[in-house]
Order: sequence, then C-alpha cells, then structure tokens
Amino acid sequence: MTLPLLCTVIRHVDKQEAYDTAIAENPDNAGKKSSGERGRRATATFHKHWASHRLLRISFTDNPTAELRNAIEHVIWQWDQYVNLLIEFSPVNDGDIRISTNTSRNASSIGTDALLFRTMSKPTMYIAVKPADEGFEAMVLHEFGHALGLLHEHLHPESKIPWNKEKVYEDYGRALNVSRDEIHQNFFATYPPASVRRTPYDTTSIMHYMVQKEFTDGEFEIAQNTTLSELDKELISSMYP
Ligand SMILES: [Zn+2]
Repeated sequence: MTLPLLCTVIRHVDKQEAYDTAIAENPDNAGKKSSGERGRRATATFHKHWASHRLLRISFTDNPTAELRNAIEHVIWQWDQYVNLLIEFSPVNDGDIRISTNTSRNASSIGTDALLFRTMSKPTMYIAVKPADEGFEAMVLHEFGHALGLLHEHLHPESKIPWNKEKVYEDYGRALNVSRDEIHQNFFATYPPASVRRTPYDTTSIMHYMVQKEFTDGEFEIAQNTTLSELDKELISSMYP
C-alpha cells in the first residue's frame, strides 16, 4: 500500500505573537469571546485572515523551472475569484507568501502566520509535488487554502473519523518524518466546538485529508478530493467578502 501525499501545517510556538500579528493585520480576526472566556485574548478561537482588499504578493524562494512555476500559479489562480484580495506573483523573492519547491515536503503556514517568518529567505510554504504527479492540483489548491487562512477540514469539531491512531502514528510518522506530536496536531487535534466556523463539516473539502480504510476501523474512508467544494467556495467567500 502506498501512502497518499499529505500536507503538514507549519505551526508557530508563540501563540501570543501569532495572535498579535493576526489582529494587527485584520482586527476582525479577534472574533467573539465565548461567555466563559476572560481577559483580552481568545487564542484558541482567533482567525488568521488577511486584511480585506489587501495586495497579497506571492514569490518563490528558489528558482523553479518556468513550467513548474506556471503550473503552480495556474492552480493558485483558481482561488482568486472567491476572495477580495489582490493576488500578485512577484518575479523576485519578496512575497508575503514565499514558496519553496526544492523540498520533499508539502506544507504551509496558516494565513497571517506567514508574517511571523521575518526573513525573506524563509519559505512560508513548501510544494514538493510536481505537475506530472497525480494529485498535484489538489495539493497546490490545499496548500494555498492554508495560506489564505483555512484549517484542516478533518479537524472540524463535527468530524468523527474512527482512526486507527497507533497505525497513523507509526506509518505516517515514518513517511512524513515528523514527531508524534506533529501527527497528533495534523490528524487528530479537532478544533474546540466553540471555534468560530461558518460552514458545517464537509467531507468533500479540498482541505480534508484523504482517509484510507487501512487507517480507520477498516470500513470508514474518504477519497482524495481534487477540486474546491461548494462549501470551500462558500467559506472562503465569507472570509473575504
Ligand atoms: Zn494541510
């Protein structure tokens, strides 16, 4: 059995800094505090959306071939019609979102977390898939969804995936070469029910992992999603109206 290509989210340890950066970019990211929360911050539930109508510049930290660069850009443009951002590709590496293609991983930071990297030489996104790979378009759509602030859909509070957790820890830990905690955060750490979401759980989302039977109770599975779902379009449009 071959494991499907999966993405891991680039996480930042300093939640307060991530919160402050998100609010400085877009005050609406603060969201609403639930009745039980006190104090000025609600770091479990804040958003990481870019400011509306902002210029969002994208560049590459390495020198992909024109073919690869064009293929990635072509896929990213699919998001453009649903967001009120001005997306622009820069010929030099000075983007808000900086993509490395000389890599073995597929990963991205979430929305405004990209601003936490400080130095331009640091990628905020990694794209290992190549245009000839099955799943190229799906992976690039997925990674750029993260860059726009979307989270993993299989971590939606209403998802009830009967994972075979030990097998996931073992097989994916090895395949992705990441720690047990990284596996936990990417596969199992569902968001708190109080987190502010506008759409119901969507198994057809581009932000959902493919789930193979071998990693569940043997019955449950979710196929590889390859296009933006209707709810993906609805959610991103509500984030950037
Ligand atoms: Zn992902």
